[in-house]
Amino acid sequence: MSETTIALVTGANKGIGYEIAAGLGAVGFSVGVGARDEGRRDAAVAKLRAAGVDAFGVPLDVTDDASVAAAARLIEERAGRLDVLINNAGIAEGWPDNPTSLDPEVVRRMVDTNVIGVIRVTNAMLPLLRRSAHPRIVNQSSGVSSLTYQTTPGSERGGISGGYTPTKTYLNAVTIQYAKELKDTGILINLACPGYVATDLNGFQGTRTPEQGAAASIRLATLPDDGPSGGLFDDEGVIPW
Ligand code: NDP
Repeated sequence: MSETTIALVTGANKGIGYEIAAGLGAVGFSVGVGARDEGRRDAAVAKLRAAGVDAFGVPLDVTDDASVAAAARLIEERAGRLDVLINNAGIAEGWPDNPTSLDPEVVRRMVDTNVIGVIRVTNAMLPLLRRSAHPRIVNQSSGVSSLTYQTTPGSERGGISGGYTPTKTYLNAVTIQYAKELKDTGILINLACPGYVATDLNGFQGTRTPEQGAAASIRLATLPDDGPSGGLFDDEGVIPW
C-alpha cells in the first residue's frame, strides 16, 4: 500500500475543483484529478504536474455507475486506499431557475449530478477510505443551501432558485445522514461553502477567486482526528442549516 496520502477530487479539471487539487498537492497529497473529458483532464494533470503536484488522471463521470466503479479500481490499483475524497463536481443548469418555470428534466439532471453523483462516488470509494488512517470526505455545498439563510428576511443569498439551490440543501441532508452512520469509523464527512466564486458555473460573475473558494474544502480535508463531522462550513466557520 502507498505511503503517500492520496486524494481524489471530482470535477478537478477546472474552477474550484482544480484549485482544491492544487492546494492538496501543495501540502503533499498525491491527487487524482477526477474528470469526465479526456482532453480537459490531461490538460489539468499536466498543469498541476508543472506546478510540482503529484497529480494523476482519473476518468470519472459521477452520473455513470461503470465510470465510478472503474475510478475506484484505478485508485485501488494505484494506492490500495484513499485518504481524502472531495465531491466537488456539480452543475447549475437553466439559471435563473425560478420554481414556476422549472423544466423537470433539468432538475433531474442536477439532482443526478449534485446529489446522486455524490452518493454514487462516496459509496464506491468508502471501502478504500476505510483503509485510511485519517479518512476525510468533503462535499461541495453552498451557503445558498442554508434554509436559515433562505428564510431570513433581507438575506439576498442565492436569490430565488427552485432547482440548483434545493440540490445543495438535499446534499446537506444526505451528508448529515452519512455523518451519523459513519460516526464511529474515524471518517469525518463535512460540507464546504466556497463563497461566490468566479467560474464557468456562474458565467464568471462570482466575486472570489477559485483559489479562495478552494480554501474551505482544503481545511476540511485536513482536519485533525478530533475535528467535526456532519457540519457545513465556510471560511468564517459554521453555517446554520
Ligand atoms: P465549474 O463549472 O468551473 O466546475 C464544475 C466541475 O464539475 C467541472 O470540472 C465539470 O467538468 C465537473 N462536472 C460536472 N458534471 C460532472 C460529471 N457528471 N462528472 C464529473 N465531473 C462533472 O464550477 P465550480 O468550480 O464553480 O463548481 C464546483 C462546485 O462548487 C460545484 O459543486 C458547485 O455547485 C459548487 N459551488 C460553486 C459556487 C460558485 O460560486 N462558483 C458557489 C457554491 C458552490 P466538465 O468540465 O467536464 O464540465
